[in-house]
Amino acid sequence: MDKNNIKETIENLREKIKKHNESYYQFSTSEISDYEYDQLVKKLESLEKQYPSLSEGDSPLSEVGNDLSSSEKSIPHIERMYSLDNGYSLEEIETFLDKIASEVNWEMFPAITLEHKIDGFSVNLFYDNGELQYATTRGDGYVGEVITENVKTISSIPTKIDWKKPIEVRGEIYLPLKEFVRINDERLQNEEKLFANPRNVAAGTIKLKDSSIVSQRNLDSVIYSIGSAPDLMIATQSELLKFLSDNGFKTSLHTQLVNTIEEVAEYCNKWDHERSNLVMEIDGIVIKTNSFSLQSELGYTSKSPKWAIAYKFKAEEKETVIEDVIFQVGRTGAVTPVAVLTPVYISGSTVSRATLHNKDVITKLDLRLKDTVRIIKSGEIIPKVISVNLELRPPKSEPIIFPDNCPVCSEPLVKNDEDAITYCENPNCSAKILRSIQHFTSREAMDITGLGEAMVQQLLDSNIIAKIEDIFSLDYDAIGNLERQGTKSVENLKKAIEDSKNRSFDKVLFALGIRHVGSKTSKTLVNRFGNIDALINAELEELIDVNEIGEKIANSVHHFFHREENLKLIDKLKEAGLQFSANTTHIGQALSGISFLVTGRLTKYGRKSIEQLIMDNGGDVSKSVTKKLSYLIVGEDAGSKLDKAKKLGTVIIISEEEFDSLLTEKMGEVKE
Ligand code: AMP
Ligand code: ZN
Repeated sequence: MDKNNIKETIENLREKIKKHNESYYQFSTSEISDYEYDQLVKKLESLEKQYPSLSEGDSPLSEVGNDLSSSEKSIPHIERMYSLDNGYSLEEIETFLDKIASEVNWEMFPAITLEHKIDGFSVNLFYDNGELQYATTRGDGYVGEVITENVKTISSIPTKIDWKKPIEVRGEIYLPLKEFVRINDERLQNEEKLFANPRNVAAGTIKLKDSSIVSQRNLDSVIYSIGSAPDLMIATQSELLKFLSDNGFKTSLHTQLVNTIEEVAEYCNKWDHERSNLVMEIDGIVIKTNSFSLQSELGYTSKSPKWAIAYKFKAEEKETVIEDVIFQVGRTGAVTPVAVLTPVYISGSTVSRATLHNKDVITKLDLRLKDTVRIIKSGEIIPKVISVNLELRPPKSEPIIFPDNCPVCSEPLVKNDEDAITYCENPNCSAKILRSIQHFTSREAMDITGLGEAMVQQLLDSNIIAKIEDIFSLDYDAIGNLERQGTKSVENLKKAIEDSKNRSFDKVLFALGIRHVGSKTSKTLVNRFGNIDALINAELEELIDVNEIGEKIANSVHHFFHREENLKLIDKLKEAGLQFSANTTHIGQALSGISFLVTGRLTKYGRKSIEQLIMDNGGDVSKSVTKKLSYLIVGEDAGSKLDKAKKLGTVIIISEEEFDSLLTEKMGEVKE
């Protein structure tokens, strides 16, 4: 490689690492595995070391991952919070211990503490006078974000301790696996996107604005270190852990003090195998010199202590055999190939299915039936097939053929090249109908108890319903005649369906099952558009303009509202009395007698949607600036209309935000 190439490689690596740091620490998501990430870091480290002259400028290597966001209150740490150096092989750990040995003159191998590396989110707790004063995130290592209220919901973190002097206590907040499974089960029921791993949920949860949601998530903690602690006389890590536990903190039960490299290796191997028995996820072992005086002698690099290292586990991989491939049709018509596997135990659970995602994945891997494949479960809940062991491929193996027709309704399938997904586009496909009715009645949507999967199937089979809208004109006599349906359950069903008519507009919108529109997106759309007609009439650009809505979602929404059968469905549901606008009680009153004109480019609302909002609230939308105009709402790059309004002097000029406050204020008046 020549100089320019090396410099470019260094810069590319830096960019990549920075990007991954950002998604991991600020958005709590990971695009690559820990292992892949650490490999990038190692590569950059060795290049920067080898070519210092080509390594000028900012490097992510000298910073710890930064979780700060600009909007939150932050507090500087009294003592800095560091990251940890890491290694994936026991040789690396041995090299680390040898290096320590050569730097300090040991009489004998120093005592080492071994702790679980809990895969969570680090926290700094500051106590004074024996009371918790505040809690902060690691932030950039120097300054952390305040998360006190959320931390107070965690029952294992004491708000009062015996130690009265000021002290910074540090540890990890994590989501117990049991809770992780529970939360994802709920999300699965609601067809919401599943969380990838407990660490991401913990990190996302601790920054939520609403502490009541945090308390429902049952986070837990393990405490393992301190920052500043004047007058605390403690000489070793093991004494410190005892002190912390005596003060009411939860410390790890599995910490061990050892004196040989063999014991270090033994402990690492043991927990690599037994980690799946733990109540939380651990991603490695932290190896620390026990003596604090030795720790201060060794000191720190720009980012990590030189007296500790993390031995990181590799994501578990196993081989198994593809017995069969089935093709599932979801509510949107997406056909997903699912591999049926010879069951294997991997990272804490028995796996018998793995998603193959789409047609391209099958082609790329050249998968055949009875192939032995390597599967990986790296934090993700759904295991992935990563490679085929061709040596074990049986002779005359059969390729996996992606069907050309829907496995349920036999209509030709259509492949969407953009997302590589193959769809059944037949609106009458019974698989789609079953799944969409199930979605419609599910808890996050219309929440109709009594219309679970089995019942919906029964109603479809006996031709009592054929489409979503039929739910609201059920033949209850016919239902009473069905097997296992007493008068009581029919009454209950009737009531549940009646109740569902009160569900808010965003639930109804979510229930419609628009591709890519989850419950959060539904809320966003309702906030911006207010009612179904504004949404139906929204231009594609207007949809794209909405914050948090990308082109993919916008296209899908736009497409949905341009299909005849969907508009028919909406009409039927309107007739049935479902809610199709937000806060209907205020419509037509709040802005009555007030006129508005919009000019310039708005950032929050689309032009049409704000005009619709004005009209829905009884306001007038003017065409030009005249003396009669009450308000001119001004966006970016406003031109002649703004000039004219200024000249007239009678028109009140406001921003989008001011319009929002005005509307809220007027709505309040109407309410009273
Ligand atoms: P990293 O996230 O790769 O920078 O690794 C360092 C982080 O590991 C620390 O900031 C802690 O949040 C976390 N960690 C988990 N368990 C421990 C432990 N027993 N001792 C020290 N750090 C730990
Ligand atoms: Zn079909």
